[in-house]
Parts: sequence; C-alpha cells; structure tokens
Amino acid sequence: MMTDLASQHNAVNLSQGFPDFSVSDKLINLVTTYMKNGYNQYAPMPGIIELREKIAEKFFNLYNYNYNPDTEITITSGATQAIYATISALVQEGDEVIIIEPAYDSYVPAVRMAGATPVFIQMKYPEFKIEWNDLNRAINSRTKLIIINTPHNPSGSVLSTEDMEKLQKTISSSKIMVLSDEVYEHIVFDGYEHQSVARFPHLAERSIIVGSFGKLFHATGWKTGYCLAPAEMMKEIRKIHQFMVFCVNTPIQYALAEFLKNSDTFLHLPAIFQERRNYFGHLLNNSLYKLTPSAGTYFQIIDYSAISDEQDVDFAIRLVKDFGVAAIPLSVFYREKPKVNLLRVCFAKSNETLNAGVAQLLKAQEKLKA
Ligand code: PMP
Repeated sequence: MMTDLASQHNAVNLSQGFPDFSVSDKLINLVTTYMKNGYNQYAPMPGIIELREKIAEKFFNLYNYNYNPDTEITITSGATQAIYATISALVQEGDEVIIIEPAYDSYVPAVRMAGATPVFIQMKYPEFKIEWNDLNRAINSRTKLIIINTPHNPSGSVLSTEDMEKLQKTISSSKIMVLSDEVYEHIVFDGYEHQSVARFPHLAERSIIVGSFGKLFHATGWKTGYCLAPAEMMKEIRKIHQFMVFCVNTPIQYALAEFLKNSDTFLHLPAIFQERRNYFGHLLNNSLYKLTPSAGTYFQIIDYSAISDEQDVDFAIRLVKDFGVAAIPLSVFYREKPKVNLLRVCFAKSNETLNAGVAQLLKAQEKLKA
C-alpha cells in the first residue's frame, strides 16, 4: 500500500523491504546456463538434492548442527511459503500460537487460516527485546507453537545467546514447537554472531527454521527459500508443500547449489549492509529524528516524536503526499494499532536514494516542528 502511494506521488521509497543492489552476474549467468542446458522441467517435490546438500553443509559449518538433506530440508517458494506450509501442517483448531509483536505480517493470517488462535505479546520500544516473563505467562496447555524472528523485521533487534537459552528452557518441559524466521541471518552488524536455533541442539530438535535466498542474494523476485525441521515435522510440512506448489523453480535451484559452493557469496554481506546503516545514520545525525540502533536486517526504526505527535499512519501518509518520501508506520506490525511516533525505513539503498530520502525527511522536520 505504501509502495503504491509512493509511486503515485513519485516519492523516494524507503519503505520497501528489499535492497536496490543488483544480483551477482555470476549467479545470473548460472541461472541462464542451466536454463539453456535444459534444466526446465519440474524439480523433485522437496527440491533438488544438490541444493539441499549445500544448505545442510552451510548449517553444519556455521552452526554445527546436522540436518539430513533427504528428510529434513525442503526448498520452498520463498520463506513466505515455508511459513504458511509449516503453520498449516503443525497447528489446528484449539491450538494457540504465540506471536511476538511487532511481527512480520504473514504469521497471523496463516495461524488463523489453520483455525488456531494467535496469542500476542509485545517487545517494547526502544530495545525491542523479548520480555521472557510475558512470554512465560502467555503459555498454557494449548500453546503449540512460538514464532520468533531474528534478526527482526521491523525493529532490527537480534536475539542473544541468553535469549536462546531462555527460549530453550521455556519449552523444555513441554511439547511446544518453535518457528524461527531467520531470513536475515547474514545481515547482522558490529561483529555480532547470528543466534540460529540450530546452534542449540535441544531447541533445534523442536524447531522449524525458514530462510530466503531472495534476501540472501538480493533476488527477492525469485521467490526461492527453504525450510529445515526434524524429519517427523518435515514429513507433515511436505504434505502441505506438495499441494501448495509441489516444487519450485528448477534452474534457479541448480544455480543456487553451484553458487553456494563459495561461502564468500554470503559472508561479505554484513559489511555491505553495515556501511549502509552507518551512512544513513550519519545523514540524520544532527536531526531531530531519533534512531534506535539497528543490530541486524536492513531496517531502522526512526522516532519522530520531537517533530510531530501525529499518529504514525497519518504521519507516514503526510510524508509521502507533502514531502515525497515513503516509510512504513510501525503500528501496522501490531494487531491493536498502538499510538506511536515510529517509522520503519529500509536503508539498503544507494547513496543517491538515501540522500534524496533524508533531504525530504529534513524538509519535513523544518516545516512540521512546533
Ligand atoms: N520473513 C520476514 C521477517 C521477512 O521480512 C520476509 C520478507 N519481507 C519474509 C519472511 C519472506 O521472505 P520471502 O521473500 O523469501 O518469501
């Protein structure tokens, strides 16, 4: 919606959740080569084994956990389809699913479509950390699944080792499962290490991880992702996957399997995005906009309360219409839209776009501050 409004008003778009970096030529050439060489028919239902093996290798090398590529890894049509298939397969009417707000928008509809009930807890501005007491209070005998997301969209916060240990402890005396949305696993800053649930064997035994090659290789339009889960859960997830899409794009899977042979393709990402984060932060340094430090993802929360006390949805619309810059109001990531003066921006943009966007934000500051 914000993107439509942005294009109607010819606004600088800092709202969209994708980087304006180009896809590697090497990867594009690989896709083209596989297409030309005839890899154009259906792939096996769980994905080509070469790609599943590469993902298993990556998880073993990075997080020291062994996923069986045969039975525990499925290639999906983006993380979105992995999330939907997982929730549809594992929860049903009568079950409760804990959602931690602000939350990415595809979780709740999937829970409701499965007939289950979302139960909400909130992370608080400015740190956006999980309040473990709140989470523990939300658990009861109907709780089936907890959905976590680290690094976190929209806040840019990341879960720590301590958080993961608390999560492990929280579910240890129950049968609760964890859906861990790790699509931004390689976008973490300041030397921090991504805390995948795969690093914690007792958690991994009860968790489903979703990932996205779209996010990993700046190719969100390719809609290729994956899902990892213990075999007995994966068996159920594949029953849904089979009738949602059966399988996903064949030549892209072959190209990704080849491209992933070189881990430099993703290990350099934090530096690129950190540089963007710092550049954007530097541009707003002396302004009245307050930035909460983004520890991961390519998102940044901006507090504009020193400029206006207008509700964030109205303020975001005003920014587009009157000042030509688009950002996402944070309240849309909550079920009960709270009154906040916060926006989410995507800083994974060229200098030119960031300069233009910030110039408009500063104009708004000048015009609107009381
Ligand atoms: N989870 C989160 C937290 C996301 O931000 C996104 C993409 N915006 C997705 C999942 C979906 O990823 P994909 O494009 O691979 O479906």
